[in-house]
Amino acid sequence: MRGLQTTVEWENIRSTYDAVVIGAGPAGCATAACFAARGASVLLVESNPKAARRFAGEWIHPEGARVLNEHGLLEGVDSGVTSTGFAVFPNDGLGPIQLDYPGGATGLTCEHETLVTHIRRRAAELPRVEYAEGVRAQPVGGDRVDLSVRGRGPKRVLTELVVVAAGRSSRDVVSQDATPEAQVSISLMAGLIVTDSQLPCEGYGHVLVGGPGPVLAYRIDEERIRLCFDVPRANRRDARTPEWIWRSFAEVLPHPLRAGVQDALSRAPLSWAAIAFRPRCYRTESGVALVGDVAGIFHPLTALGITMSVLDAEALAGAPSLTDYATRRASQSYIPELLSNAIYQAFVRNDPGSEAIREAIFRTWRSSPSQRSRTMKLLGAAATARTDFVRAFSHVAIRAGVGALSSDRRTVAELAGWLKWPWASLYPQPAAIRSRSLSWAAPESWARSDFFRSPQPLQENSHAK
Ligand SMILES: Cc1cc2nc3c(=O)[nH]c(=O)nc-3n(C[C@H](O)[C@H](O)[C@H](O)COP(=O)(O)OP(=O)(O)OC[C@H]3O[C@@H](n4cnc5c(N)ncnc54)[C@H](O)[C@@H]3O)c2cc1C
Repeated sequence: MRGLQTTVEWENIRSTYDAVVIGAGPAGCATAACFAARGASVLLVESNPKAARRFAGEWIHPEGARVLNEHGLLEGVDSGVTSTGFAVFPNDGLGPIQLDYPGGATGLTCEHETLVTHIRRRAAELPRVEYAEGVRAQPVGGDRVDLSVRGRGPKRVLTELVVVAAGRSSRDVVSQDATPEAQVSISLMAGLIVTDSQLPCEGYGHVLVGGPGPVLAYRIDEERIRLCFDVPRANRRDARTPEWIWRSFAEVLPHPLRAGVQDALSRAPLSWAAIAFRPRCYRTESGVALVGDVAGIFHPLTALGITMSVLDAEALAGAPSLTDYATRRASQSYIPELLSNAIYQAFVRNDPGSEAIREAIFRTWRSSPSQRSRTMKLLGAAATARTDFVRAFSHVAIRAGVGALSSDRRTVAELAGWLKWPWASLYPQPAAIRSRSLSWAAPESWARSDFFRSPQPLQENSHAK
């Protein structure tokens, strides 16, 4: 078996460990580190280390960076950039809105493969962690794991705890009962790397609004800037070409970036990823613990996937029982999930009610430092209380409502749909709301949702150029 020097050889894998962690992405590495820090012996198993070459998470909020730093997983990372917040470009001629992490907190951005390879190596080097690479793991109940590797007979390992951290497309690793929620497809995302260009607000994640979907742009190292173009489902058939991306998004790109993007589009291939939403679900009936994307996925616009994954890991290692972990994380992940859907919908929908909400969000952020700070706490998962979300969102919704008092009935009806978001967050049974939230996630299915039903049907996003 070839791979990291710290990889345990197949014949040296023991028959018992305190914990077996399946998958060595951000969630699995953080889980292994958190358990090892508490004195547990951990087997961390990765079937396909090359999976880290895909276009995926690169932005880590301060809370995620805190957990990774506490366990030394980011120590020595030689590329990557410190991030201080987001700069939102509303395309309204009034300039960007800077949203700083409160209290001077900082996050990190780093190219996905570099990041995952680094934290994997650091986790594998930890005392009490044994890392098996190129090995596929399959849980058998909550206390056994079957391991297999090409050309060798299977091996069974006994353990106190099985943790599945196998990512979003590995739901076959756990039973259907453990992840019962369906997945709804939202959009496609095209990734592009631009070299030797400048961002208008260095150190910030740039959110560019006004195209068919939002664009996220951030520096991943001294030379390179990542652009993530969101292509809503309605546009997916035409969108697969660099020409379409340029035609549709050029207008919203800040001037210092335009030439670099045009040049990169003509030379480098785009990386594509399918974007979906699945409400987070931590069911424990199968006896295994779920951490990271296998538990649920959000739209990457709010860049929460890695942070939520490592917060899962920290919570699991500190929980007195699996049930306690599941209950706590279901509650703590609900608001980030709701916020992620709300912000995406507000930035991508073009009906008058959503436009009123979008403008109210921008006006609120421009005028109120405390609302900016509140938003950033929610966005970075530093605040997860429902009351924080209600305060932030009600403020926006009321502002939009006052602005629309003289509008037609349809706009008012659409706004009424938006006003249900804060109400939804106070609903006593998140599980019931979560199931419904599936139908809010894709822009074109919102109109069909009972929860947001308006007297007249809403139009699909028709921004294609
Ligand atoms: C386009 C895009 C952009 C994104 N941008 C951001 C961002 O900026 N910030 C952010 O926080 N998040 C972002 N995300 C989300 C982020 O990438 C994920 O949330 C994060 O990678 C989840 O980590 P994970 O460890 O749960 O899963 P993964 O990263 O998928 O890792 C799972 C690992 O398990 C292994 N595995 C699977 N099955 C087995 C098995 N049976 N045995 C052994 N190993 C197995 C896989 O090979 C893989 O290495 C983005 C996602 C996409 C698609």
